[in-house]
Amino acid sequence: MGNVKYVFVSGGVCSSLGKGIAASSIGTLLESRGYKIQMVKVDPYINIDAGTMSPFQHGEVYVTDDGAETDLDLGNYERFTTASISKRNSVTTGQVYQEVIERERRGDYLGKCVQVIPHITDEIKRRIMVFSKDADVDVVITEIGGTVGDIESVPFIEAARQFIFDVGRENVVFVHLTLIPELSAAGELKTKPTQHSVQRLMEYGILPDILLCRMNQPMPDDMRHKLSLFTNVPFDSIIPAISTKVSIYEIPLAYEKQGLTKALLKSLGFAYKEGKLDKWHNLSEVINNPKGETKIAVIGKYIKLQDSYKSIYEALHHAAFYNCAKIKLVKIDSETLTESNIEENLQDVDGILIPGGFGERGIDGKIAAAKYAREHKIPYFGICLGMQIMVIEYARNVLGWENANSKEFDPESPYPVVALLEEQQYIDAKGGTMRLGAYRGKIIPDTLLYKAYGSSELSERHRHRYEFNNCYREDFEKNGLKIACTTMDGQLVESVEWTNHPFGVGVQFHPEFKSNPFEAHPIFRDFAKAALEYKKV
Ligand code: GLN
Repeated sequence: MGNVKYVFVSGGVCSSLGKGIAASSIGTLLESRGYKIQMVKVDPYINIDAGTMSPFQHGEVYVTDDGAETDLDLGNYERFTTASISKRNSVTTGQVYQEVIERERRGDYLGKCVQVIPHITDEIKRRIMVFSKDADVDVVITEIGGTVGDIESVPFIEAARQFIFDVGRENVVFVHLTLIPELSAAGELKTKPTQHSVQRLMEYGILPDILLCRMNQPMPDDMRHKLSLFTNVPFDSIIPAISTKVSIYEIPLAYEKQGLTKALLKSLGFAYKEGKLDKWHNLSEVINNPKGETKIAVIGKYIKLQDSYKSIYEALHHAAFYNCAKIKLVKIDSETLTESNIEENLQDVDGILIPGGFGERGIDGKIAAAKYAREHKIPYFGICLGMQIMVIEYARNVLGWENANSKEFDPESPYPVVALLEEQQYIDAKGGTMRLGAYRGKIIPDTLLYKAYGSSELSERHRHRYEFNNCYREDFEKNGLKIACTTMDGQLVESVEWTNHPFGVGVQFHPEFKSNPFEAHPIFRDFAKAALEYKKV
């Protein structure tokens, strides 16, 4: 198994402390020292993947090149590190049990009683250790979903503990993220929840090497001593993670400053060396000194939950960084939009983005927004459902086809301009059955898309069942809706554009999954540029 080391990142006290960003930042900091890393997310839920979960409950479903529908933390891994992320980087209780039960049915366990320990824990370990077989991997970072103490995460914590036995204590590092709450009246900081959370971890046989403590103010030395005394974690390995209002892209630098890299390298048994973090410093410079600002409306039905459009918001920020500007996001719930209030909602935005979505709710508001953007020549970017909306709106208001619709919303529509993909006709099961993952596309010259990519080909990730209805292709083209990209065989329409408009682009794929802070996605980049220019006019 070579000399691969394993870092486990667990969370205590409560959820939403930023475990994904902490794990990603650990990846960033190790890569800055030249180490090759891999990142794994283990999730205690019983769903096979995140694809069947509502964005309202679980946030965005992140799609990988190979078509896995995963937890949004994998998006952070791709944005913060260069680790190649695919299906195998996301492990759920559902997958683990499914695999073990299939083996049991085949008779692979030769009459044994199949149990959580060792069979379930072995399967969890196998899925983490598989990365040690990759060429060049030095460290595998595993983020354990949930909070220590939850019933569901026990097998994962136990599997992590067994790594001590399997690969040796010197090859395993446990990082525990906790919260130091502040009692507001007195501003008093409280360490007790952290002490209890570490005790909980110790009951499972894990003594953390590093504590990351989320708190609102700097940690006094005497508190660090006290925590060290109660938890056995060395003083220098107790790292305050101060919750100031910084961009998530400044967190690796904040951790570096607080001594996390020193503590990590020491625990990993690696000699200390300086890191190459120039690009992160430059990024922080851009983030803190924007030269302009542009207001972008994101109109969706899952808007209430901050995480539902995570990659879209991030890609918009990346596009702003590229243009040395700042994005002001105006988040609008599509269910509240109507023809009559559209003006007051959209009159002072510089760009309108309609993201992906499923189901009929909120569709009318989105159609009204697309119409407003088209008629007022406001830059518009439609992603997946956002492109389908563009097609429906065009059919109704330019081609004059009353009740044109997607078959998803009106199966009886006289003009089903968006229809089910042929391969989807006989599929009933919901899990993992959409058109998923990366497909190549042919870009048509003389389009905004061609200009953005600077190429006649693209590869982008998909997640949909419906598609532009080819029966109407000619009608649309004759009337000014340009086809900007198709599948390589020319069959499926992957992108449309408005003519006589500064920037009206719809894409059937999800470009937001391939944007990162150092390389804004070309369509987002040009959309933000168009929005900044629209503002000047
Ligand atoms: N509901 C639409 C479809 O299935 C759009 C999907 C999406 O926006 N991801 O085609």
